[in-house]
Amino acid sequence: APFDGHLIAPQTRAFLDRKHKLLIDGLWVDGETGETMETRDPATGLVLTEFAIGTAGDVDRAVAAARRAFEGPWSRLSVAERTALLTRFARLIAEHAALLTELEVIDNGMPRFIAGLCVDNCVEMVDYYAGSIMRIQGTTIAPPRHVAAEAEALTYTVKEPVGVVAQITPWNVPLAMAILKLSPALAAGCTIVIKPSEETPLSMLLLGDLLLEAGFPAGVVNIVNGLGATVGQALSEHPDVDKISFTGSTATGKRIIQAATGNLKKVTLELGGKSPVVVMPDADLALAIPGVAMATYFLQGQNCMAGTRIFVHVDIHDALVEGLVQFSQGMTLGHGLDPTSMQGPLISQVQTDKVMGFIEGAVAEGATLVAGGKRLERPGNFVEPTIFTNTTRDMRVVREEIFGPVMAIQRFEGTDLDAIAKLANDTPFGLSGSVWTQNLGWAHKLVARIRAGHVSVNCHGAVGTNIPFGGYGQSGWGREFGQESLEGYLETKAVTVRL
Ligand code: NAD
Repeated sequence: APFDGHLIAPQTRAFLDRKHKLLIDGLWVDGETGETMETRDPATGLVLTEFAIGTAGDVDRAVAAARRAFEGPWSRLSVAERTALLTRFARLIAEHAALLTELEVIDNGMPRFIAGLCVDNCVEMVDYYAGSIMRIQGTTIAPPRHVAAEAEALTYTVKEPVGVVAQITPWNVPLAMAILKLSPALAAGCTIVIKPSEETPLSMLLLGDLLLEAGFPAGVVNIVNGLGATVGQALSEHPDVDKISFTGSTATGKRIIQAATGNLKKVTLELGGKSPVVVMPDADLALAIPGVAMATYFLQGQNCMAGTRIFVHVDIHDALVEGLVQFSQGMTLGHGLDPTSMQGPLISQVQTDKVMGFIEGAVAEGATLVAGGKRLERPGNFVEPTIFTNTTRDMRVVREEIFGPVMAIQRFEGTDLDAIAKLANDTPFGLSGSVWTQNLGWAHKLVARIRAGHVSVNCHGAVGTNIPFGGYGQSGWGREFGQESLEGYLETKAVTVRL
């Protein structure tokens, strides 16, 4: 059975059976070469559908359409009209929740309950940015001395959209990634060319329909699916793109920065992570065991915030490890459509081989495997939740982002907070982190010492629509979510008027 015996809704089937094209200038069109790619169900390996992929020439057409829309009808819309369009878009997402959820499950592999939460969050996020449009505002400032000396004068600032923006997204949470980039950019008044990951094109293709149905003018959002090396590279280099917002690996982020130098486009980057989880000796184990486990296993570990470096105080180490092993062994792996699945497959064969390479490497380097470690002998890309203890700072499993359900535990002694923070900060990344303790002093002092953009206490990765998110160090540039994301799509113009 195509979905391990689970049924999909007729509307999902009908969507898969469609011819999937590029969205350029308000129309679904073929790419200039007519080339297509396949997307697969990662839980079964079976092909779901084909979709058109673009070229540098298609990127040129899409950027030109976005420029025309930016200079034309879109920029003439009133704030109220732009708000109404985004609000209508939010309602359409809510109305298509079941279809979006199912597409996300079969394209990405995530369990249905997580995909459902993602759709709810997307509705909230589009509404949030719709509501923020009316609050975009400048300030009045004292005019410069030399002008004020001669005449009455006035200085104020206005916020203007950055212009045409390119957005490139990864495959790990495809729908949510698209929405968290599209909605602030639209609220700011930008026009967009978006390139979803070639592994997971489906939810963005449906969003294309919904954007048209909501009534956004032609060219405001263009979708060019395709490969990173062609479409992604062409967008990053394009001389008429004013800003690029990218989420993906640190290696690709570095390439994008280089490609963006030609016209010095603005760059926002959300990159990789290797987030620390610090468990102090007084941690509440009933909270810490599931919390630390899911800090690593959420989205099969394919999560930029994944807390894959676990530092546990020696006094609580054995009890925590025992609890984590039990939790891991109790996790049900299966097709995302199966309501009992807590963990789905990894995205691809390639990713599975990479994760298995990390596991084998850790064993070879002398880490102790205490749970999991195997690939399931069934179709699809399933890897068991895996725990290593006795890991050390130089092991690959501790240094590199794995993007799989693999936890590396290290123990520490004492409660010297500077020493503990030094362990936590021993990484070039700085995206996320968490501290588990009941001691308020320890909690806040450690939070202050951890170099990361998003740190939680007694929970992990607690992101939200209104909460800024982004990385220190090699985890990125800039922030997404909240008002800071909107700011990233706005320029500030200062105006002095000699009266
Ligand atoms: P990736 O870097 O391989 O690909 C991401 C996107 O970039 C894809 O759309 C891909 O086609 C495109 N791309 C690839 N090469 C390109 C190039 N040369 N020029 C332009 N675009 C190119 O990442 P991935 O494997 O899809 O996603 C996993 C990575 O994303 C992990 O490192 C993870 O930490 C990171 N991530 C970060 C965040 C965050 O918010 N910080 C969130 C999710 C994922």
